[in-house]
Amino acid sequence: MVALENSRVRMAFDSHGRLAQLLDARGVARAPIDERALTEAFIVELRNGAGEVIHVSPQRPPRLDRRQEGQAQTLVCTWELDGPWGALTVRTKVTLPADSPVSEWTVDIDNRTACALWQVAYPRVSGLTAFPPADGPDWLAIPFEMGEKVPEAVAFVNNRVKMIDTWARSEYGAYDVEGKGGDIAFSYPGMWAMQFMAYGHPSTGGLYFAAHDPQALYKRFGFYADATDGEHAAMVLKQYPEDRTAAGGRFRSFYPAVIGVYEGDWWRASDIYRAWALKQRWAQRGPTRRRTDIPAWAKELDLWYWNWQFHNVGHPDKVVPAIAYLKERFGAEVAFHWYGCNGEQFGSGWRTPEEYPDNRDIRETLVRGVRQLHSLGVRCIPYINARLWNPNTASFRQADGMKWIATDEHGRPAHKWGALGYTMCPTAPPFHDLIARVTNQMIDGCEMDGAYLDQISSCYSVPCFHRAHGHGPGGHDHWCRGYREMLEKVQADIKRRAPDNVITSESVIECYLDLLDLDLAREISGLKSKVGCPSALPIPMFHSVYHDYHMTYGTVQTFKQTDMPHFRFAEALCLVGGAQLMVSGFFAGDEAKDKFRPHLDYMEALTRAHVAGRKWLNLGVWKPPAALRCDSVEVAYWPDLPPKTGIPVILNGCFELGGELCIVLVNHTAQAREGTLSLDPKAYGLDGAAFELWSLGPGAKKRLVSDSAGALEWRVALPPASAQVLAIVPRR
Ligand SMILES: [Zn+2]
Repeated sequence: MVALENSRVRMAFDSHGRLAQLLDARGVARAPIDERALTEAFIVELRNGAGEVIHVSPQRPPRLDRRQEGQAQTLVCTWELDGPWGALTVRTKVTLPADSPVSEWTVDIDNRTACALWQVAYPRVSGLTAFPPADGPDWLAIPFEMGEKVPEAVAFVNNRVKMIDTWARSEYGAYDVEGKGGDIAFSYPGMWAMQFMAYGHPSTGGLYFAAHDPQALYKRFGFYADATDGEHAAMVLKQYPEDRTAAGGRFRSFYPAVIGVYEGDWWRASDIYRAWALKQRWAQRGPTRRRTDIPAWAKELDLWYWNWQFHNVGHPDKVVPAIAYLKERFGAEVAFHWYGCNGEQFGSGWRTPEEYPDNRDIRETLVRGVRQLHSLGVRCIPYINARLWNPNTASFRQADGMKWIATDEHGRPAHKWGALGYTMCPTAPPFHDLIARVTNQMIDGCEMDGAYLDQISSCYSVPCFHRAHGHGPGGHDHWCRGYREMLEKVQADIKRRAPDNVITSESVIECYLDLLDLDLAREISGLKSKVGCPSALPIPMFHSVYHDYHMTYGTVQTFKQTDMPHFRFAEALCLVGGAQLMVSGFFAGDEAKDKFRPHLDYMEALTRAHVAGRKWLNLGVWKPPAALRCDSVEVAYWPDLPPKTGIPVILNGCFELGGELCIVLVNHTAQAREGTLSLDPKAYGLDGAAFELWSLGPGAKKRLVSDSAGALEWRVALPPASAQVLAIVPRR
């Protein structure tokens, strides 16, 4: 064994250059690595002239070279490899800086073959087992969209029950899932919104696995079944050369993979990532509260109205009265996410992304509706698809659109999305021009307040191999760079028209945060697992890193949901997770229908809570939920799947802003509930000799505790299906 060690972490490698031990200095957080089940340190994939992929992995132990470089300890492993395909030198380097909880891993490959370097799987942390039995399961936290935690992930990837149908695979980006049936493996940029995952047990801590890549290059992350015994898994990063088709040459990692340990629950891994992430270019405009490019009205929103997911009714007569009703009844700030505003059936897609209503009657009806909304103080944005281009449009033909679609390595269309059209290469200038034009038209001709640009923030990336697009064949930087160029153009155009205009996109991803005003992150309330694990739970993982840097809104639910325990639990997740709320599937006249009364009553309670905690919920730093002792329930969510178990009857979310902490509580059950909240303000970073506890709503603002020097303990009692907002402020 060769060890690298500092004040925070100890790691040891076997003679094959494989990570065999990883633990924190106190020995509390220990990666569960079974040294007897270790597999390859790396797998290089070569692609020969005939298009065949050849897997090359270590043939013999490497030369190990442990060094001290300044304050850092390093381990360089060198392998000489050869075969019928030629010869390779693979040199890996692990660097452990002083006092850092994480190490940096890079690889350097001298390719003396006639093959192209197609893919490099490095690092591979293999031999992973379940954590030792303790109170509750271990979890893999993954940044799939907003985030999900998968219990007993090693068992899951080895014994998966498939439950994602073809449509969902496409819609939710599982399209690019790879490996064997159960593997949890996705591309970034894509459905993975950030470049890390955390495998741990909440009672101890776990393994932090990341790429710290400022360019957001195309890569893949995965948690794979490994060692073929059904009992082990490997965490793997897959990285790529700039040109995946060029024979020979040299590859050096463009960024380090980062591996280390964290103590505590999954959000402690987020702390490590956040320390790196906030230094990247997408965070350089600062936190939302300081960004002058995001209009004040967006920072003050409580609720969005969405007319999709139930009926595709976009006519102003059906939606404007419903929005007016919600705004007045809830006493909240509301905006409108408008599908099918142009008189067409949303989803037919025959003109994608052309949204502008060329018919004058439709346009004038729409403008009247927009003006009514503006008179109510409601902003509205139309749906525009900013990824797909339908070949049956004049704009596609005039721009010679086939030259700009994403193509695979054989020169064929890489991806067509049903009837909506081709996935365009994000670097395509004519497509940038088109999206800017359509967005501008909706502002200039329809008086909209910007646009929703669907499928940009989170949709699986499609590596493009087109040689005339000005990017490396196989992707490299094309996804992030291309969309950034498009969004920069759109952003400049809309803000020039009026600083109050906004652009938003679907789901979340970090690498465009400076170019968008908000994002539709509705999956924060989605109980159906995106990786197919019935007992997985949605977590606000993205918010745990970026909440104060990016606002999100939305829900996957509609008023069509008649299972009220499911509805209430899911909407509670939106509020305590720190999203702006949403009402969907509710139209003019529905306010008089008895069947919607429970939905309206509950959404009013949550929305009024959002109003009371608005500044924290929109602008605050996400903090871990407070310890709250209360009963638990099961929540059924799908007819043929087991219920979610162990769900606290009172959920809470905590947000810090200006040295004050807001705690949002929701009783999502149909009974009155009580619980005991315990929280040490100083452990949450608040500064003061003593603290006051306030109730901000419902009802008048009221001081509950006037002078508490240490940890606060407070008995909470919530009526059925209700919310309460508390604040802890330093005593002045
Ligand atoms: Zn391309």
